[in-house]
Amino acid sequence: MPSHSPVPDEHACLSCGSTDVEVFHQEAGVPVNSCLLLASEAEARAFPRGAIRLGFCHACGFIANTAFVQALAEYSTRYEETQGFSPRFQRFADDLAHRLVDRFDLHDKDILEIGCGKGEFLLRVCELGNNRGVGVDPSVVLDRVRGPAADRVSFIADLYRKQHADLPADFVICRHTLEHISDVAGFMELLRANLAGREATTVFFELPDVLRVLREVAFWDIYYEHCSYFTVGSLVRLFERNGFTVLDARLDYDDQYILLEAHTDDGSGGFKGRRGSRVAVDQVEDVAAAVGEFRRRHQAQLASWDARLAGLSASGRRAVVWGAGSKGVAFLCALPAAERIEVAVDINPYKHGMFMAATGQRIVPPAFLADYRPDVVIVMNPIYRDEIRAELDRLRVEADVVAV
Ligand SMILES: [Zn+2]
Repeated sequence: MPSHSPVPDEHACLSCGSTDVEVFHQEAGVPVNSCLLLASEAEARAFPRGAIRLGFCHACGFIANTAFVQALAEYSTRYEETQGFSPRFQRFADDLAHRLVDRFDLHDKDILEIGCGKGEFLLRVCELGNNRGVGVDPSVVLDRVRGPAADRVSFIADLYRKQHADLPADFVICRHTLEHISDVAGFMELLRANLAGREATTVFFELPDVLRVLREVAFWDIYYEHCSYFTVGSLVRLFERNGFTVLDARLDYDDQYILLEAHTDDGSGGFKGRRGSRVAVDQVEDVAAAVGEFRRRHQAQLASWDARLAGLSASGRRAVVWGAGSKGVAFLCALPAAERIEVAVDINPYKHGMFMAATGQRIVPPAFLADYRPDVVIVMNPIYRDEIRAELDRLRVEADVVAV
């Protein structure tokens, strides 16, 4: 990640530089971080807030929070983002690691991961292909690094910077990181410059697809840490503008994530202009239509969820939220009736006993529900519905399971 970013200009696109940016969605009082471990309800409720003003670029389709202030985003060891405790997510990550190792013949290679989080994925890729790895991430916790490849992988607790240009990198991985970077063009330029003068290097990027968020009016998928929102098309266009050849770009994980593979053309760093895309992608008009849909339906979507929660409470039924990450925080924060929800469930043991930013619900382990006996469990990501249902059955909790 870049060490600094320019002062946000409401009218300039940080992906393509166009000034044809239209603000289409605004929220105030949003917690500036939703993955930090907060040890008291008071600290959680007093958590710093910021604003969201989503701007849509009519030139390239990129969407960004034009009110984002990089200095407010803390990425430290208090940042607890891993989804690695979910069997469903683990299976996905493991299949992906196998696929990348096979497809790009990653054996005895040097792998660089930018934004490696707690390092689970990098360790797996290094284990599968007997590779060596370097992970760069300010939130890395060395005590939690273990596994068969741990002695071949090192970590740098920092943002990715120019001085990392000499790190060995036959293959670069960057998962769920670009959406946290506001100056995306600056980041691509940095990456391109750091990889210049080498053999063609392949990169793999994974991040959420905003087209689905817009079409489903998934307001819980819009939060402060995500300052940059891409569709497959706007992401491909960013890579092509910055001297990469896109090999593949598609959706995975129930169409929630964009997976993009690209490479630098040669060692010269002398990219001469835009080339044709090799993959079929959405166009700017498609994003514009989805933006319009989101804008039209957003209020109704909020009202419908709020009425639902108020109705549950009025009939004496107890609801809990399952998923104490960013989606859970965004969901609870957006709905006034959510103040009746007392706890948020999460399977990540590092979160237990902590509190949800802004709204202050206590985060509890699934086992808590055996005594608490909720009537309704609101699942913050439908992809985890089956594993949550199974866990509730195991705990003999007969709640209705409702996915957002
Ligand atoms: Zn743009």
